[in-house]
Amino acid sequence: MEKTCALIKPDLTSKNQTGKVISMIEEAGFNIAQLKKLTMTKELAESFYAVHADKPFFNDVVQFMTSGPIIAMVLEKESSIAAWRDLMGATNPEQAESGTIRALFGSNIQENGTHGSDSAENAEKEISLVFG
Ligand code: ATP
Ligand code: MG
Repeated sequence: MEKTCALIKPDLTSKNQTGKVISMIEEAGFNIAQLKKLTMTKELAESFYAVHADKPFFNDVVQFMTSGPIIAMVLEKESSIAAWRDLMGATNPEQAESGTIRALFGSNIQENGTHGSDSAENAEKEISLVFG
């Protein structure tokens, strides 16, 4: 079964909205294979978002991702990478389809509630970074 790495970001843990997201994940038929709550170190966030190291928002996203606890999950389902990105919606909550997690719970393009791997290769990297 394909695995993807899902994170519930600090904006939603600080608003006590993690349970609603986890319910949506379960209702969509994902198996939550692993789950943990942690606060990312700067080093972990920089490695996790290394693909964006040259982007203007890199320092801000690292700052945001280390600003409070996150919930990290390994989700399993057929085509889980695409399925989880569909359930999250577009990066910018203003452009996310209604009913998606980012449309429902995201605040802005940075504080957009959740993360999802974008490829099998990155899923594997992210899972090993977070779960060892
Ligand atoms: P994620 O990787 O978190 O699942 P994504 O794949 O939809 O999101 P990316 O382009 O990989 O989007 O961006 C990674 C994260 O960096 C975004 O989720 C968001 O938190 C932040 N980000 C992306 N673009 C911007 C931007 N223009 N300004 C501020 N933050 C941004
Ligand atoms: Mg991404």
